[in-house]
Amino acid sequence: MYDCLKEECGVFAARHCKKGSVFPYIYWGLRAQNHRGHQSHGIITFDGDFHTYKALDLVPKVKRPEFQSWLNRLPGYVGIGNIRYTTSGGTDEQSLISGTQPFIVGTEKTRLAIAFNGNLVNHFKLRNQFKERSPQLHYDCDVELIGRKLVMELSEDRDLSSSVKSCMNEIEGAFSVTGLTRDGELFAFKDPHGIKPLCCGNSPDRTIQAVSSEAVGLNINGFEYDFELEPGELILTSNGDFVREQLVPCRRRALCAFEFAYFARPDSRLGNKFVYEVREEFGRNLAKEYGDFINDSDVIISLPETGDDVALGLHEASGLRWERAVRRHRYVTERAFILLPEERYATIDRKLNVLGSKLRGKKVAVTEDSIVRGDTTTVVIEKLRRMGAKKVHMFITFPRIIGPCFYGIDMATYGELIGSRHPPAEIAEIIGADTVNYQSIDGLVRSIGLRKDELCLGCVTGKYPTPLAQKMADEMREKFEKGHKETGRIYEVSSII
Ligand code: SF4
Repeated sequence: MYDCLKEECGVFAARHCKKGSVFPYIYWGLRAQNHRGHQSHGIITFDGDFHTYKALDLVPKVKRPEFQSWLNRLPGYVGIGNIRYTTSGGTDEQSLISGTQPFIVGTEKTRLAIAFNGNLVNHFKLRNQFKERSPQLHYDCDVELIGRKLVMELSEDRDLSSSVKSCMNEIEGAFSVTGLTRDGELFAFKDPHGIKPLCCGNSPDRTIQAVSSEAVGLNINGFEYDFELEPGELILTSNGDFVREQLVPCRRRALCAFEFAYFARPDSRLGNKFVYEVREEFGRNLAKEYGDFINDSDVIISLPETGDDVALGLHEASGLRWERAVRRHRYVTERAFILLPEERYATIDRKLNVLGSKLRGKKVAVTEDSIVRGDTTTVVIEKLRRMGAKKVHMFITFPRIIGPCFYGIDMATYGELIGSRHPPAEIAEIIGADTVNYQSIDGLVRSIGLRKDELCLGCVTGKYPTPLAQKMADEMREKFEKGHKETGRIYEVSSII
């Protein structure tokens, strides 16, 4: 994916039941998941009081002499952390700093710390409700709205379970939440559709319980994977174990299908499979769906790294050689943006090394996870052609994206999506490929191994799992087709309720 599409957030939380320090575990848990959010990171721990650390950019690598003191940065036997890419609130530096999670939210009666992964569809309505009650309050991030709602319920002497239940019933959207009560109790819960992943695990001696967006946050700490939270479930930790409570019934599961194609790390498990196994199956399925264009190719190349496992599957099913002719510059991690026309190739050169001698005169089958806006894919294909590729057949694992996402992925309008305006043949012409071969929706679902009605496929089918998102999508589509200008993140400004 070279369109620089962003996930919104990732979380990691831990509690040490023998009162040891948890900051190091949270630090590594966030490092393992930095692909889910680059703009800022933060950690709040508790040892009788809250302690906070927040900063912009990636979770830092720390030099050896300072490393031990870095790991002692915050005291506390329980804590939560977050890495963030913003899909609500401002994106100027000041807004990014003030929007960095976790947040502490409180009233005179109670306080809590909270962090999440997701996006609230009825953001506008919720914000206005709170503004009516407390006009002086300012909101920098969605999760503050969840925190404010929880604190309001807790202040009315409701217990945590019924307060979380109210959130689940009144908030629409994707929310995988971790939090700390004012007494340092660790809790986590998932929205009733389970749109974003959230799993639990234990240290081998079961002294530390952890909650993580992806299992890789557990693996890096040497923890054992225990279970994925159910949609509508709340968990607490107690004496080295988890206490699980199903607060609202799951009416319809809707795990984001895009996690499998792009967002999640290949070595994370979602559902009952590792993500890389699903991607290999995508490749095998693409070989079945587009045998003609495989037969018209001399060699497979993959755009690292989400295309790699797909290429292996395509190679296994077709017998065509997978030439590892595109490599990522391993230690160049800065995001590259196209600033000037003459920078077009430099942008790709800084990210990828393409070995032209392996492509010259060849018909290449290129595996890629998705095409969103199409601008960067165009530059990649231009580069492949410049290096001598005779034909370029694109094999895309995620079906054609025809609509926006309201659940936290950075694609908010129809107009920005090349797939909402053009069929595959036109897209091929626009981006300079000979063919663009999207995996079918049914093929994607079969490869994932869940039922279609257990996945969110809103952006590729136009059918969203929650009612307000569907209403917004339909209204936006109608206006877009009539040529009206679109208003960016509609959930922040829409009065459709
Ligand atoms: S609309 Fe698309 S990107 Fe958004 S949650 Fe659903 S499948 Fe994922």
